[in-house]
Amino acid sequence: MVYQITNPYTNQVEKVYANHSSSEIENALEKGDRLYRKWRNSSFESRVTTLRAVSQLFLDKTDEIATIITRDMGKRFIEAQGEVLISAEIAKYYADHAAEFMAVRPFKSRMGDAQLVPKPIGVLMAVEPWNFPIYQLMRVFAPNYILGNPMVYKHASNTPGSAEAFAELLLEVGVEAGACTNLFIDYDQVNQIIADKRVQGVALTGSERAGALIAAEAGKNLKRSSLELGGSDPFVILHDANLSEIEKIIGQARLYNAGQVCTSSKRFIVTTENYETIVKMLSQAFSKAVMGDPFDGGTTLAPLSSLKAKKDLVKQVEAAIENGATLAYGDMSKNQGDDCFFSPVVLTDIAKSNPAYYQEFFGPVGQIYQVADDDAAIELANDSNYGLSGVLFSGDLEHGTDFAKRIETGGVFVNSYGGTLPELPFGGVKRSGYGHELSELGFEAFMNPELIVARNTPIDLDSAFGGFL
Ligand code: NAP
Repeated sequence: MVYQITNPYTNQVEKVYANHSSSEIENALEKGDRLYRKWRNSSFESRVTTLRAVSQLFLDKTDEIATIITRDMGKRFIEAQGEVLISAEIAKYYADHAAEFMAVRPFKSRMGDAQLVPKPIGVLMAVEPWNFPIYQLMRVFAPNYILGNPMVYKHASNTPGSAEAFAELLLEVGVEAGACTNLFIDYDQVNQIIADKRVQGVALTGSERAGALIAAEAGKNLKRSSLELGGSDPFVILHDANLSEIEKIIGQARLYNAGQVCTSSKRFIVTTENYETIVKMLSQAFSKAVMGDPFDGGTTLAPLSSLKAKKDLVKQVEAAIENGATLAYGDMSKNQGDDCFFSPVVLTDIAKSNPAYYQEFFGPVGQIYQVADDDAAIELANDSNYGLSGVLFSGDLEHGTDFAKRIETGGVFVNSYGGTLPELPFGGVKRSGYGHELSELGFEAFMNPELIVARNTPIDLDSAFGGFL
């Protein structure tokens, strides 16, 4: 496993990193475990102060951190700045809500005074992807830092700059050594860490392939896990949708982060009366994309994260066309060079028998499907192996919301972009994974709601439960 920065804009290797040794892994786990034991029975208050400082540091150093992200994986600088800002917001959100989420929850029971006490479970192993290399780490770190779960993480091998920077930034504002440790390690070492008895949970964001392997390791070792995997999210356009509103966002709904977003709109599903208009609209939006240096403010479409990612996507689109899809917009001859840029394409006429029908396209590829009516739109939206998120447009909010509830997915945004905010739960169903990050649900992902029941004297077994306990 080689950790190196290959700048996607230049396709040049900029820095190679040395892997961590077994003793460094042991040191990270030992320190993490010690912190867990200390935090388990002490107040979280000082961590709130430190997490606020983390948030402020990310605001103060937005451009510096954004530069690291853009060099690592090539996204537009403005998008990288946005990623740092949302990461700062996540830290602030968990600091602001710490007292509420850590509050003891008393409840009534015939057994006595019962309460649930939020407790950590131990050191966590996080495996994270390159597409949001800072935000993804913050999603796991911030809630678990308040709760008292230290973490070690293995980041994607193509974003080592972000991986290293994240842990260093935390130390700068006083996050304890061992609370969040970056490890440049291989897959076997990840498995060894999962098996370690000091480690009690695994969070993975990534592909289905990695998700299945990591979940198997977690299962084998009886460790709690959460998986945030791929998506082929629908963008459903009901018959009464306001097309001029859609026009404002349709391009960015697919091209943001060069289309490499698990929740980006990948399948545009539209009823017959609006089909031609939407094909033209998406094509037109794609035609305006300006590919170039991600640091240049005039660039609207960045390169993909690596040459391999581009070549894989080219193959996938070519296979879709060979299997009968129509290239409604775009020119695949522009996508043959040895650079990381992918000129956007629109695919239509994708039959159910076409492998593309069930695949996720991780880049600037829009798939458009024509359906007879609104019911058929929902049926097609649900005919997917994934269920991460979705967008639905309707001229009637009530009608739209009713239809949104019929989509089998983690969440639907009606008449808007899909988006992420600290207070919105993030998680999927089907092959998009399980568990949640962000919001209070994300806080609970690796929490032990420890039950304490207190009485002055033992309960009388026979009278209380008829002898059953
Ligand atoms: P990937 O290959 O699964 O990589 C993700 C992470 O998993 C990387 O750190 C990778 O390390 C590691 N990894 C892969 N196989 C592993 C194994 N057997 N054991 C331990 N670690 C392993 O994912 P990708 O294809 O680069 O990323 C894109 C995918 O992630 C897409 O499917 C996308 O939809 C999904 N994604 C989902 C979300 C979400 O929140 N649901 C967010 C972002 C991305 P290496 O880099 O060293 O291989």
